[in-house]
Amino acid sequence: MSAKSLDDGDIVCPECAKACKPAMIDVAGEKIGGWRCSCGYEMIRPKDFEKAYLFLQARKRERVKISKRGNSYMVTIPKAIADVIGIDKDKTAEIFLKDPHTISIIV
Ligand SMILES: [Zn+2]
Repeated sequence: MSAKSLDDGDIVCPECAKACKPAMIDVAGEKIGGWRCSCGYEMIRPKDFEKAYLFLQARKRERVKISKRGNSYMVTIPKAIADVIGIDKDKTAEIFLKDPHTISIIV
């Protein structure tokens, strides 16, 4: 008796019972591995649940404090965001004013 994991086998749609095809599922703009049925039902691959969860945590708005050091202002980056995008202490990033109320940081 072989135990096939959900990651190995064909997935049957719980909504319409058709076979689902492997697909990248859009989770708030991030592509996560999973399956999609022709009826539109989507499932996230079990091994990617944590990635999807961490990404959704990082997407939550968080109020951070602005401090000043010399002539520059500093903003802390929440750990949830740092963990998802892989920020490290000596990494460099680009920062620019996207619009009058939004600062973008590209890492
Ligand atoms: Zn379906």
